[in-house]
Amino acid sequence: MTVHGLSSPFSPHGDQPLQIAIVGRGFSGLMMAIALLKSVSQPFRLRMFDPRPIVSGGQALATARATEILNSRARDLSVSTGEPKDFTRWLQANAPFREAVSAAIPGFGQIFVPKATFSDYVYQRFSEALAQRTDVSVQMSNEGITGIRRHDNGLFTLGLADGSEATYDTVVLATGYGLKAPLETAAQGLEAALQERGDAPRHVVVMGNGLRAVDQVLQLRDGGFTGRITILSRRGFLPQPHTRMPADAVFPSQPMPSQLRNIVRFVRKACAEAEENGWSWQAAMNGLRKRARTLWASLPPSEKRQFNRHLRAIYDSHRNRLPADVHARLERELAGGMTEMRRGTTLKRLPDGLFVRWAGQTAGEHFAVDEVIDCRCLSPDLKDPVVTDLLSAGLATTDELDLGLAVNPAGELLTQRGRPVALFAIGPLGLGSLPDIDLVPEIVTQTYAAAALIDARARPQLQAG
Ligand SMILES: Cc1cc2nc3c(=O)[nH]c(=O)nc-3n(C[C@H](O)[C@H](O)[C@H](O)COP(=O)(O)OP(=O)(O)OC[C@H]3O[C@@H](n4cnc5c(N)ncnc54)[C@H](O)[C@@H]3O)c2cc1C
Repeated sequence: MTVHGLSSPFSPHGDQPLQIAIVGRGFSGLMMAIALLKSVSQPFRLRMFDPRPIVSGGQALATARATEILNSRARDLSVSTGEPKDFTRWLQANAPFREAVSAAIPGFGQIFVPKATFSDYVYQRFSEALAQRTDVSVQMSNEGITGIRRHDNGLFTLGLADGSEATYDTVVLATGYGLKAPLETAAQGLEAALQERGDAPRHVVVMGNGLRAVDQVLQLRDGGFTGRITILSRRGFLPQPHTRMPADAVFPSQPMPSQLRNIVRFVRKACAEAEENGWSWQAAMNGLRKRARTLWASLPPSEKRQFNRHLRAIYDSHRNRLPADVHARLERELAGGMTEMRRGTTLKRLPDGLFVRWAGQTAGEHFAVDEVIDCRCLSPDLKDPVVTDLLSAGLATTDELDLGLAVNPAGELLTQRGRPVALFAIGPLGLGSLPDIDLVPEIVTQTYAAAALIDARARPQLQAG
C-alpha cells in the first residue's frame, strides 16, 4: 500500500528524493514516521516494513480491547513536540469521548484513557502529518526484514523476507522486542481455548509481575475465567498505584551522590520528604525519572549490574504504576482468594506445568497447572538476524550490560569506538543505554531528535547533488 500527500511527490528538480526505511510499525515506528513528516524539510520516500499488517497507533496499543486502560496519564502522552497538551486537546475535541467521560474532570490531563483511544489519536496525527506533505510518499510493506548491510558509499541494503532487497539512505530500526508473538495473542489464544473446550482450565499461571502480568490477570477475569490464577514472580513486587490527584514531578535539586548505595538512600529520603510536605512518593518518583538518564550514564558497569540484580524490580514497580482504580481492582482480586502471588523462579517449562524453585528453597519442584502465560519482562531480541548482521559488520555494538544495542539519546547506533553510523534504533532496542526508552514520552522525544539529525545530515547531501 502506498499513501501520498495531497499531490504527487518528489523533487521538482529531478533530484532523487531521500529514501528512508523504518523497520517495525509499532508505536516507535509510527511515531518515527510522524517526526520525519514534521521535521525533514526536503522531499523523501518512506517505506515502513512490518510483517504484521496493522497500521495504527502501535501494535501493542491498537490490538487491545476497548476497555483496556493505558497506565500513563493523558497529560504525558502528546506526540507533538513542544505541545504537551496536544493529546488532551484532541480528547476535548473528540465528542464521543467527551460525552463518555465525566465533565467534572478539568482538561482531561489527569485521566487514564483506553489504549484504543490513544492509538486512534496517534494514527490521526500520522494521517494529518502526511496530508500536509505533498512532497512525501509513504509505502507500507508487509514484509519482515531479514538482514542489513552497509555499502562503501554509506547506503544501506535491507534483505526482505521474500528474498528481494531494497536500498536506502537512512534506516530506522523500530523493532521493539523483535518478532515474538505479542502477548495479546497469548491471552486471546487462551480465551479461544476456554470457549472451545467448554471445560475451562482450572489453574492458570501468569509469569511476571509487571503491568503486562496485571493486564493479563484482569483480562482473564474479563473474559469469564473463574478458575485459580497464580502470579509467579521471582521478586514479588507488583505495580504500585498512581495517586488519584496529579503528582507533578518534585525532586531535590542538589546533586545526586555517586554510589548506588547512597543514591538509594537519597531517593528514599526524597520520597519521605515529598510525603511529609503534602506531595506523594509518586511525585518524587516522577522527579527521579527526569534524572534517570544522567544518573544511569554516571554509574559504572558493576553498579549497573547490581542495580539490575537487586533494585530493578523495585524501581519498575514504582515507576510503572497502575491507575488507582485498576490497582484497587487488583487488590480485590488478590483478597478474593482465587488469585495469589507466589515468589519463585521458573527453572523449566513442563508439558503439564512448570518446574519451579520457590523463594527460600534450594531445590526445584513440579508445579502442575493447566495453562501458563509468560508475561515476564521482555528484552530486545539480540539474536534477530538484522541485529546479528549489524553486530558482525561492526555497525553496532551492545551496551555495557548486553541488554540491547548501544545508542545515543537520538537513537543513533554507536560502534565499539562510540561513533554514530547514521543508522537509528528507536525505542526498546536501546534499553540498556537509555532507561525508560520503552515508554511513550521518551520514545516521542527520541524520534524528534532522530528526525532532526536526519534532516540536518540530508541538507548538505542535496546541496552537493
Ligand atoms: C500492553 C502494553 C501496555 C503499555 N502501556 C503503556 C503505557 O501506559 N504508557 C507508556 O508510556 N507505555 C506503555 N507501553 C509501552 C510502550 O507503548 C511500548 O514500549 C511501545 O509499544 C514499544 O513500541 P515499539 O514500536 O518500540 O515496539 P513494538 O510494539 O513491539 O513494535 C515492534 C514492531 O516491529 C516489528 N518487527 C520486529 N522485527 C521486525 C523485522 N525484522 N522486520 C519487520 N518488522 C519487525 C514487529 O512486528 C512489531 O510490530 C505499553 C506496552 C504494552 C505492550
